[in-house]
Parts: sequence; structure tokens; C-alpha cells
Amino acid sequence: MQLDLALSDVPRSGREVWTCSVCENTNPLTESLCSVCGASIFDAFKEPPPEPRDPRRALIRGLVVPGLGHFYARQALLGVSVAALALIGVVLGIVLIQHGVKLAGLGLVLLGVAVWLTGALDAYRWARQEPDEILLRPRVLTAIMAVVLIVLIAAAMSTGGAA
Ligand SMILES: [Zn+2]
Repeated sequence: MQLDLALSDVPRSGREVWTCSVCENTNPLTESLCSVCGASIFDAFKEPPPEPRDPRRALIRGLVVPGLGHFYARQALLGVSVAALALIGVVLGIVLIQHGVKLAGLGLVLLGVAVWLTGALDAYRWARQEPDEILLRPRVLTAIMAVVLIVLIAAAMSTGGAA
């Protein structure tokens, strides 16, 4: 009991304070609620929630530039993958067509365009915060990349045989 008394006798320094994120009132750390507005001390250390993104703007950006809608909807990593796959498909597809590998080339172009358009729709869904509706997930993008590689290898073998 003597110990308790001794501890309560220790004067509070009162110097440790936190600033309320709502009213900017300064409160002692011994209080967990703001004495002015009643906001919690935890709100002061919490990051403000990100502002919502406009789904239509995400869609339009994704249609103009592959993957750009993802960047707008704060899915930059997926945006890079969508952009890379769409460009690889379209560019390599055109190269193949120019080299006479028309069917495989056309397939790659269509694949690239499909990734492009689906990516724009996904950006719309990311902005609407409907992650369950997303089609181009990392696993799906990896699978599409594998298909692109297989088509490329097959095309290279067929051109090598024809030459
Ligand atoms: Zn306050």
C-alpha cells in the first residue's frame, strides 16, 4: 500500500501532449479523448482516408492509355502489368503480322486489345471498390503472359521452319 501512495505522490509532468486531429486542441497524453471536441487520441495518429476515385475517370484513363486507369485507381502495380501485357500483345502481334505470321500475330493483337479494354473496366471496378469483380488479377495476368510466350515460341519455330 505504501508503494501505491508513493506512486500517486509523483507529480505529473503534464508535458507530454497530443494534438487533436479534429479541433487542433492540445491535450495531455493522460487523456485519450479530446477535452474540447471528444475526438479520440487514435484519430490524431490515424492517416486520413484516401479520397474516393471517380470510376468513370478511371475507365476513360484506362481506355486512353492501357494501365493508366489502374494508376488513377491506386493500383499502380497491376497497372504496370496491364500496360506491359497490352503493349507487348499489340506491338509483337503487329511485328509477327509484318513477318507473315498472320494468325499468331492477329491473336496477339486481339489479346493485347482485350487486356487493354478489360483493364479499363477493371480500373472502373477498382475505383468503385469492388475487388470481387476484378478480372485481371495477378494470377490471370501471369497466365496471359505465359500464353503470349507460348505463341511467340510457336511463331518463332514456325518461321524458322519456313525460312
Ligand atoms: Zn478536439
